[in-house]
Amino acid sequence: MKYPERIDIPRRPELTSPVSLLRGYRGLWNTPLEKLGIRTIRDLLFFFPRSYESTGELVALADLEEESEVTIVGEIESIRMGRTRYGKSIFSITVDCDGSLLKATWFNMHFMKDKYQAGDRVVLSGLAKPKADRWEMTHPRISVIDEETQVQGSEVLPVYRLSQGISQLAMRKLVKTAVEDYVDKLEEAIPELIRIQKGIGSIHEAVRGIHFPESMEKVEHHRLRFVYQELLVLQLALVLRRWYHSIANKAPQLETDARIHARITARFPFELTAAQHRVVQDICDDMASSEPMNRLLQGDVGSGKTVVAEYAMLLSVAHGHQAVLMAPTEILAQQHFRTLQEDLKNSRVNIGLLTGSMAAGDRRRVLEELASGEIDLLIGTHSVANEEVEFKSLALVVIDEQHKFGVRQRMAARNNGLDPHYLVMSATPIPRTIAMGMFADLDISTIRQGPDHQQPVHTYLGDATEREKWWQFFRAKLREGRQGYVIASTVERATREDLVSVEEIYEGLRNRILSDFRIGVVHGKMTSADKEETMRQFHAHELDVLVATSVIEVGVNVPNASLMTIEDAQQFGLAQLHQLRGRVRRGHHAGYVCVFGSPANEEAEHRLQAFVDTLDGFELAEIDFDLRGPGDLFGTKQHGMPPLRVADLRRDRTIVELARDDAQAMLESDPGLQSTEFVKLRKQVLRRYGRVLDVGDVS
Ligand code: ADP
Ligand code: MG
Repeated sequence: MKYPERIDIPRRPELTSPVSLLRGYRGLWNTPLEKLGIRTIRDLLFFFPRSYESTGELVALADLEEESEVTIVGEIESIRMGRTRYGKSIFSITVDCDGSLLKATWFNMHFMKDKYQAGDRVVLSGLAKPKADRWEMTHPRISVIDEETQVQGSEVLPVYRLSQGISQLAMRKLVKTAVEDYVDKLEEAIPELIRIQKGIGSIHEAVRGIHFPESMEKVEHHRLRFVYQELLVLQLALVLRRWYHSIANKAPQLETDARIHARITARFPFELTAAQHRVVQDICDDMASSEPMNRLLQGDVGSGKTVVAEYAMLLSVAHGHQAVLMAPTEILAQQHFRTLQEDLKNSRVNIGLLTGSMAAGDRRRVLEELASGEIDLLIGTHSVANEEVEFKSLALVVIDEQHKFGVRQRMAARNNGLDPHYLVMSATPIPRTIAMGMFADLDISTIRQGPDHQQPVHTYLGDATEREKWWQFFRAKLREGRQGYVIASTVERATREDLVSVEEIYEGLRNRILSDFRIGVVHGKMTSADKEETMRQFHAHELDVLVATSVIEVGVNVPNASLMTIEDAQQFGLAQLHQLRGRVRRGHHAGYVCVFGSPANEEAEHRLQAFVDTLDGFELAEIDFDLRGPGDLFGTKQHGMPPLRVADLRRDRTIVELARDDAQAMLESDPGLQSTEFVKLRKQVLRRYGRVLDVGDVS
């Protein structure tokens, strides 16, 4: 038997076909479209306008009295090509509009001459300016129409992002064709019931409407559908991920009882505060379950998160397992190491330290002891997460001062079969909307109130005339035995002319302002050994003053330091300023911070004022979010997630809430989103977030 040879039957293009198969497509657009990320017809349908412009009202030229944006209809009376004195080409046409004349002119668009001829009926939109005996427009929008065409003024036109090689007009035409021919092929992903409840139009109306809206008011209506859909898909991804991990991973069940609790807390040099108790309770509940804990602990700088982590680690050890604590810098890792050693003096708990600067031999020994189970607690830097470290039995991973919120990134560690519990700690309070929008897959515990001894911090916004007074005060406090920080935004003088550097400050202080005191320097360009040594000296009060960049931002704990000067404060974000302030809030002395800065705009001014007025980190986080939106810290990039295309977490915050509630309700009714009703939504979730969120194999 003979099979016929394979023949290619020309098929009607589909949504997933390349744009080049669109009716009226011209090959030369290929590259510019690809540059804009448009490959398929579907891509084009979802290439939403950057903004809109509206054409003027349709008028009869004879009625026009003054210069205005209008749309007119007329017949081409004559055409002229010429050149300006500087060699630009000029193309102009004179249009007769029921007896009134209008001259339209275009520069450097000689190709237009082939497109029009006398006698054509045309619509022109643009700014009409009166001249002696006629009206004039420069670079108006023009199109040829036939007798039947009904011309409408006041049209809303989409404005697209372009790349070289494609004009706005060509783009509009292309999108128009795509919408006309393909919009009906789009599948509706949002179940009808929900659409009716929410008053959301169909995908077809929405796509058509977002490209070619009837009015500006309608644009917002259509946009909201996509905002809702985008946020719903994100929320579903997060909730789905959570569900997936809860069934796929198994962690050791570590129950707490009164005896264990007493043994652990006996190690602490103080009583836990009520807030710490609450969080410890959350954590104990989590760790008693075989579903791995996935908890974020947020609490202001100095609110006492470390001891909570220590509790969780000791709970692991009490059950014969290991725990690891990772800090963002070596300084902090060292600090945690010392704290734990102090608290666990004369106990059988074995603590190991693993950092990048260790000698190879020491390192090997630590790794061996981890594998054999000799080390119970490992302290290291975040880089430990990327290494294939072998544990005998790891039950808990604590990630301290996590700004990158890499909880989604699991440790590369080898372990004996079980998954560890995860606890991530952040001193950067997360704005409510972000917590809801981006962290719906985590449980969040919050410490709002630090230990009672936490001192107030007085914050001042200094202007140049008050410098001398501030330094007098600074010196007086140093003489009382306090220590202080001076913070700069750059290390070297050469970096930026307008900013004062660590170098300059150091010289100024040493030679003049604080010449009687012992001054040290730390910044990111020093070797870690040098940094450590300086930090040690400062800790031991062998130094009175530390000039630093924001390397000391996170976690450094020197209780006797109560003074801080921040130079060029406009260079720092609100969260960062607040972190810095946390350094002088750790001891038994009231803290004093003076910020000097030259805010370049109103937003920066607001920011500094808010910093001075507000001591509560959570409130500051909300203010910062109001001023700047998610910013770098909470942007999708930080989470390694694809960017939101339509939604804006700040502007659309009410929809974030709505989408979260809906996603939760959907997953509750159908945990795997398996029913036909949700199948299309699930497809979208997997397509967009499957890989990033590691939920790819849920299907
Ligand atoms: P952070 O949340 O910034 O990591 P830490 O855990 O370093 O804060 O705690 C800040 C300071 O408060 C530390 O010196 C710590 O010893 C102290 N501290 C924490 N909890 C208590 C408590 N319950 N009572 C007294 N002091 C505490
Ligand atoms: Mg800390």
